Amino acid sequence: MTQPYKLETLAIHAGQKPDPTTGAVTMPIYQTSTFVLDGPSRDETKGYIYSRPGNPTRAALEANLAALEGAAYGLAFASGMAAIDAVTRLLHPGDHLLVTDDVYGGMFRLVENVIKQAGIDVTWLDMADLDSVRQAIRPNTKMAWLETPTNPRLKVMDIADLAELAHAHNILLAVDNTFATPVLQQPLALGADIVVHSATKYLGGHSDLVLGAVMLNDDALYEKLAMLQFSAGAVAGPYDSWLLMRGIKTLPLRVERHCQNAMALAEWLTEQPAVAQVNYPGLSDHPQHDLAKRQMRDFGGMISMIPKGGFEAARQIVTRTKLFVLAVSLGGVESLAELPAGMTHASMAESDLAIDPALIRLSVGVEHIDDLKADLAQAMAGLS
Ligand SMILES: *Cc1c(COP(=O)(O)O)cnc(C)c1O
Repeated sequence: MTQPYKLETLAIHAGQKPDPTTGAVTMPIYQTSTFVLDGPSRDETKGYIYSRPGNPTRAALEANLAALEGAAYGLAFASGMAAIDAVTRLLHPGDHLLVTDDVYGGMFRLVENVIKQAGIDVTWLDMADLDSVRQAIRPNTKMAWLETPTNPRLKVMDIADLAELAHAHNILLAVDNTFATPVLQQPLALGADIVVHSATKYLGGHSDLVLGAVMLNDDALYEKLAMLQFSAGAVAGPYDSWLLMRGIKTLPLRVERHCQNAMALAEWLTEQPAVAQVNYPGLSDHPQHDLAKRQMRDFGGMISMIPKGGFEAARQIVTRTKLFVLAVSLGGVESLAELPAGMTHASMAESDLAIDPALIRLSVGVEHIDDLKADLAQAMAGLS
């Protein structure tokens, strides 16, 4: 699809027209559940009926979301998990789902407690290894699910190669693009069928809302997902939709600074005596650094690291930082630190996919890089 404008322009303008009744330049918050109709039968109504099937503020957001990913369609859900739930409901009992083995903890919980219970067969595997994906495909495999870069180990998968393999077997490829954002990679352009976002993270960017998004090009799939959104009802409300549009306007600007800060911090961390390992796709020793360079415009704002002193050192670091707030979530303007094993990824604790308890995940914010380094330096003082 050819884009009439560049992403920086689309983020601000796509789906945003002056309000026809007042001329308001900013999309109003249509805080209403229902709309007056011209007559009692469906055929007599034009436009909006009820805010679950559609609301003007949400519609403006959905048009904006579609444009961000260069997609024909966008759908806004009450949360990232609601968006993921809707997409995985495209599967039926007896179908087989492939999921990459390093994912958001909530995705693990949904797969193990909801998707499997619905009679879907699931295989967890490392999708950075194309051969293992090829071997895992079965006649009933209908969908492959990946994140790239992954949460929290920051592995990078080849979207174009996986799309080619999936399509040769009539498998839908769904990509959770939360970590990269459309500023750094657009999975649909690389061949993916469906993109989802936890818009709670970078798209919103200010840690003040929870919202999910689905973007796609296929008409028939869109009809199914729009029906799921309408029928199951996990829709984004007008106020959150408005807040998200406000956040998205500065997405390209923010992501640029997140990337600059994360690159500088990752390089600095590799030189610190207390640090054993730094995972960041921008580092030349990252296992998929070359792929990341090819596939992404920059390397993102997320870093994970393991201190030499193991869990106790990790605990010390995340409780001593002052700027890096100890909190789950990511992608906001403020820097956050957490230990995934007991926090975001606690659902995996008893499984084969459990995270190293000493792994620290950093969401690098847009503060001044000198202040971020100084904060981590004082938090690591005394460790080696
Ligand atoms: C946070 C997150 C989700 C879940 O989104 P919510 O908005 O919290 O429901 C899904 N995928 C990734 C990669 C995430 O970071």
